[in-house]
Amino acid sequence: MDATLKDRALHAGDELEGASAQEILGWAVEEFGTKLVVAASMAEAVLVDMLARICSDVPVIFIDTGYHFAETIGTRDAVMHRYNLPLISTGPQLTVAGQNAVYGPKLFERDPDRCCQLRKVVPLDRALAPYRAWAAGSRRAESAGRRNLPAVGWDERRGKVKIHPLVAWTDEDVNRYVQEHDVIVNPLLSDGYDSVGCWPCTSRGEGRAGRWAGSAKTECGIH
Ligand code: SF4
Repeated sequence: MDATLKDRALHAGDELEGASAQEILGWAVEEFGTKLVVAASMAEAVLVDMLARICSDVPVIFIDTGYHFAETIGTRDAVMHRYNLPLISTGPQLTVAGQNAVYGPKLFERDPDRCCQLRKVVPLDRALAPYRAWAAGSRRAESAGRRNLPAVGWDERRGKVKIHPLVAWTDEDVNRYVQEHDVIVNPLLSDGYDSVGCWPCTSRGEGRAGRWAGSAKTECGIH
């Protein structure tokens, strides 16, 4: 483990608590350059838009699970078209058909943790391997489980710095930024989905309530 990097992350987390989203992201770009990558879920492109105003060489990663809504893939393509940033769209080694053949159909119903591991966690781990730090749009206001997120923290399992520039943002803050900067938004957000994931595990609902609704699962294991 890189103890120096971890110390820097934890120190930055203290220093940047209360800083603006632009300051937190700007610090990450300054500190890590192209060893930073930004993960995007393509619910809205706020973090990507913010990144594009700071630099043009930090890549954006999207994990294409094979189970995304067509609207999410359309959002990815629109984002790729608008912004002058390298976009890495990557996915699991097995197609959905391949996974069905190996593990049986509808693994997402029988063992969603396994399905998320195969289709999200492993592909993201592989995609993050060349980088020292990664940023994501997770916010404290999204769920009880995210209430203690730091602005900058340490991803212990991956040995990388993890940055949450939007950590303190409310839903209103996100909406304001979208309006002010004409940010691309997944059409599902105006169709009753507050949070957008794979179609088999996402239903309409407030906050993250529509994700794995009816089960105890609240996170896919990425964060
Ligand atoms: Fe599979 Fe559902 Fe996880 Fe997507 S969210 S990877 S479909 S279990």
